[in-house]
Amino acid sequence: MRKLPKRTYNDELYRDEWQWQEGDLTVTRNCQWSGPGCHEGCGVLHYTDKEGRVVRIEGDPKSPVYNGRLCMRCMAVPEAMYNKMRVTNPLKRAGERGENKWEEITWDEAYAIIEENAKRLSAAYGPKTIAVLQGTGRNTSWQAAAIANVAYQTPNLMFGFLAGDSCYVPRLVGMSSVAGDASIMDCAQMFEDRYDNPRYVVPEICIVWGNNPIISNGDGFMGHWIVDLMRMGTELIVIDPRLTWMAGMAKHWLRVRPGTDGALALAMIDVIIKEDLYDHEFVDCWCYGFDQLKERAAEFPLDVAEHITTIPADLIQAAARDYAKAKPAAVQWGLALDQQKHGLGANHAIQALWAITGNVDVPGGNILVTSGYIQADVRTTFQWDVPEAYARLGNAESKLRAQGMDNSAATEILIKALETGEPYPVKMIHCTSSNTFANMGAEAERVYKAMLNAEFIVVSDLYLTPTAVGTADVFLPVAMSAERKGVRGWWAPIRAINKVSDYANTKSDEEIALDIGRRMNPEAFPWKTLEEMWDDIMNNLQSANFDDGEPFSYDNLQKRTYRYEVFEYKKYEKGLLRADGLPGFNTPTGRLELWCTTLNSCDLEPLPYFEEPSPSPFSTPDYASEYPLILTTGHRSWEFFHSEHRNLRSMREFHPWPLVDIHPDTAVKYGIKEGDWVLIENHRGSAKEICRLNPSMDPGVVSAEHGWWFPEREAALPELYGVFESNINMLTPSTDVGPSGLAAPYSTQMCRISKVEGYVPPEISL
Ligand code: SF4
Repeated sequence: MRKLPKRTYNDELYRDEWQWQEGDLTVTRNCQWSGPGCHEGCGVLHYTDKEGRVVRIEGDPKSPVYNGRLCMRCMAVPEAMYNKMRVTNPLKRAGERGENKWEEITWDEAYAIIEENAKRLSAAYGPKTIAVLQGTGRNTSWQAAAIANVAYQTPNLMFGFLAGDSCYVPRLVGMSSVAGDASIMDCAQMFEDRYDNPRYVVPEICIVWGNNPIISNGDGFMGHWIVDLMRMGTELIVIDPRLTWMAGMAKHWLRVRPGTDGALALAMIDVIIKEDLYDHEFVDCWCYGFDQLKERAAEFPLDVAEHITTIPADLIQAAARDYAKAKPAAVQWGLALDQQKHGLGANHAIQALWAITGNVDVPGGNILVTSGYIQADVRTTFQWDVPEAYARLGNAESKLRAQGMDNSAATEILIKALETGEPYPVKMIHCTSSNTFANMGAEAERVYKAMLNAEFIVVSDLYLTPTAVGTADVFLPVAMSAERKGVRGWWAPIRAINKVSDYANTKSDEEIALDIGRRMNPEAFPWKTLEEMWDDIMNNLQSANFDDGEPFSYDNLQKRTYRYEVFEYKKYEKGLLRADGLPGFNTPTGRLELWCTTLNSCDLEPLPYFEEPSPSPFSTPDYASEYPLILTTGHRSWEFFHSEHRNLRSMREFHPWPLVDIHPDTAVKYGIKEGDWVLIENHRGSAKEICRLNPSMDPGVVSAEHGWWFPEREAALPELYGVFESNINMLTPSTDVGPSGLAAPYSTQMCRISKVEGYVPPEISL
């Protein structure tokens, strides 16, 4: 394997300080880790003028993590910051919900209304009557938890109506159950000198599974790291129903039928075991349940797997052989595995693949990163003692949840509570940076109607979204990255977020948590200022073991921009994973559990498994005769992050309308041409999107975008920005979750399509 040449820099252009002056502009090395953007929190240079306005943003070429890369979404940050939709003051609803009539109020007035309602409803129904909903990842996660569990003292913290917590949580819970820790593909991200680090080995093969990482950059993983590795010789196996850019560059592209990944992984395991390509030493010393896995995998011989997955048997065999023979090899997996009902069975199977091939915690394999969630340490700073924790919505239905393997409440039970008052009434919702029924919420209109049953709703966000206009009683305007002081503490390295700009009267999520916390539970929020709170949080970090040995402080982090931790490979051999300091994994058996004791103790299937999706052409043929096409949802685009960016003119110029990918033969069959509006419908509802012909698709599968609303349309009801017109979650189920309560079938529904005649959407006037 060859290495990339060392980078050289023109030091006049690329400085080392965290802040410097260029003419009239101040340049600050920073981390872009709030909306709009994505999970990644890339290293950027913010250029501010004398008035403190961010006038330019560039990738930080000296960022060891991102090397100056910047997507078009982040290039548009100044446009997003000074967008005419931004809200400059807290708002109180002045008309009926959905009328979009607001009165500007002060922060104190807003907090007083929130405090009065929260205390009144808590006194009447208990704190559990408050549900706190958060958006995806980023710099609102621990803050939402602090607002829920510490300020309001409710156990009911969850994603914004995301069925089955089906974004990364199923994979995280699967990894903690099976291996005791989270894993991530090793792209040398744990080292400041990256690929030059002598301990690093470039993988020979990388499987990109259900993921389009150069667009999504999800879960702390930057897709361009794989591009770096490709330039050094790594070959790809891509498993995806669509021909992504990476699939086009791959040695093998396995066009999997949506929802059948578990069968594919088990078939690959079967090939590897039968052809004796597995790592005997790792299996003998460190795995538990190999014989049972072998039996389970034998249920998926190649001909069976071909029938289930629609991938030719010889291709499955070749991919299995190449992956097993490569030393090392890695898997980068994605959301598609969480968005199928039996995703936990599939993710267990994929973990078994990397385990039996000896790719666990080795250079260039799938590494265990115990400090992946340094921000969870923030919890040690607070009195994280939720009085009604036992009553979390969904605990009764899921032993996994009740055992604390998943700290979120269950969306499907929240919907029931809002609709029926059972198991108990939920009277207040505090929604932080989550555009619930425009984005995550399956059965979108049902979610909207259920929310309206809450007596009091707070929404904090950047803009007045459909969720805010439709449901909020109080709206809190939130600061963006350049307007916040903080720390990005999700995966390593830890990074400074510097406040370089103010926008009107907005506040960061941590300021909001502190302000509400001081009113609701003052003993748990003793700090007078945000700075005091941050200092305490920093000094309480437990899991950080910094490689420079210096104590933690914000100043130190700000000067260095990044801080790395001591990192070891093969931690299971060195006693670095378990609290007792013994060698082994942090599981009950001390081994990586192919037969999982934790899942078994929760009455769940202890082995990797596959179950046919329902509906599907095989499991529900009658339904399939009415809705003959498999509908997969959620593929990403360069311009948008979930429901964000629809109000940015530059992004809409590139991508004006929602797109559904359809095979040309299928389009002809239904009288549809490229560019036609298409009605996608099933028994739950329908959505309109524009046809994009995609010859790479299986003719029996269509792939529709999610997250669409139209900020150019009327905000007030009945339009509500047209949020239910092209909303693919009108067709997805909110309550059909996996047996553990985790994972939901967003990507495995069925539908029919037809041409929409004569539809002319309103002009995009942003
Ligand atoms: S949108 Fe692109 S540049 Fe911005 S944080 Fe995400 S990966 Fe980084």
